[in-house]
Amino acid sequence: MKEILLCKCGELVLKGLNRRKFEDRLQKTLHWRLKKAGNFKIHGCQSTFYVEPLDENASMDQAVEICRRVFGLVGVCRAVVCEKDIRDIKEKAALYLKDLLEGVRTYKVETKRADKRFPLTSPQISREVGGYLSDVYGHLQPRMEDPQVTVRVEVREDYAFVHGGPVPGAGGLPTGTSGKGMLLLSGGIDSPVAGWMMAKRGLELGGVHFFSYPYTSMEARQKVLDLAEVLSGWCGRMTVTIVPFTHIQTEIRDKCREDYFTLVMRRFMMRLAEAVARQEDCQCLITGESLAQVASQTVQAIHTTNAVCDLPVLRPVIGMDKEEIVTVARRIDTLDISILPYEDCCTVFTPKHPQTKPTLEKVLEEERRLDVDALVAEALAGAEKIVVG
Ligand code: ATP
Ligand code: MG
Repeated sequence: MKEILLCKCGELVLKGLNRRKFEDRLQKTLHWRLKKAGNFKIHGCQSTFYVEPLDENASMDQAVEICRRVFGLVGVCRAVVCEKDIRDIKEKAALYLKDLLEGVRTYKVETKRADKRFPLTSPQISREVGGYLSDVYGHLQPRMEDPQVTVRVEVREDYAFVHGGPVPGAGGLPTGTSGKGMLLLSGGIDSPVAGWMMAKRGLELGGVHFFSYPYTSMEARQKVLDLAEVLSGWCGRMTVTIVPFTHIQTEIRDKCREDYFTLVMRRFMMRLAEAVARQEDCQCLITGESLAQVASQTVQAIHTTNAVCDLPVLRPVIGMDKEEIVTVARRIDTLDISILPYEDCCTVFTPKHPQTKPTLEKVLEEERRLDVDALVAEALAGAEKIVVG
């Protein structure tokens, strides 16, 4: 039996004149990402993309896994292709859904008839198919409300399709339709989640990581690349820029007031991230800050770090509790990597009593002890770019 994927578009169907742009982008994304699963033909029509395997080697299992991580799709249905003939539809439905139907007691059939030339109406098709399934599977009871399985028949332009319902898609907007953002990616739980949340709203991602070798290890660096790899499964190939950060941190340690260490350091991160963002045509920065989670994330602290950048800084997890962030991390498969116990540069030289109510004037005063421009230039010159995904 020939199978196909019906990928259902979400919000983009509402986008009026931009709709074309959104669909094109989604089509390109599917085309690019599905290469990993083999040869597929992809074409779109009426808020659905059809993904058709072109040869034996095309893996449908892998294609489902890829498609359910593509932003802009709300559901992915793995369906059997039928002739537009009620007998073929009934027989294929019974065969194709055998395992599913044998495992449940209650079901119903729902039909969508996009091709109005088809001789039967939607309710007639549902009745015919339902009657046939009850004959073949004696244990099945039709139930209109809250059945265990809803068998769906879709009669479209060239073929009819039967499936047992969608797996949920990633939702959101197609990658790249909102521009590009530079994610400050640490090895923690919060920043990958922040990147994913903004990618869901249509941003393509670049990544920047500040690396304090030998205070942080090669394992910590690899962990960040592994996180980027998982993210790329959702939002496509990304370039991660690894910026050497050790000299900046030792300078701060040697020359600044201890309670201002973290704030001065975070302002360097923002400066460097902005410079990398401009190199890579990003229109915004993204961080995993959550209000008051740590000393450097109070409103006053955020004021001092924000003041150093021109680009907008998006902080999608700012109002989320740790538990809520962890739930998303688990869902997007970053949690297991994030909780590996390697140190991040933020935990190197942390002050015993960090300033929670800093003023911008005081931070600037501390910064004047350093040659900021030279340190920034030196870090950028030592940066390394790695393509992931
Ligand atoms: P996370 O779980 O994302 O590490 P956190 O709760 O540990 O966040 P901080 O360490 O204060 O918080 O970092 C706040 C944000 O700054 C991070 O979410 C991340 O966006 C950025 N950041 C921190 N350390 C690094 C780093 N080494 N490289 C790149 N970005 C970083
Ligand atoms: Mg951290």
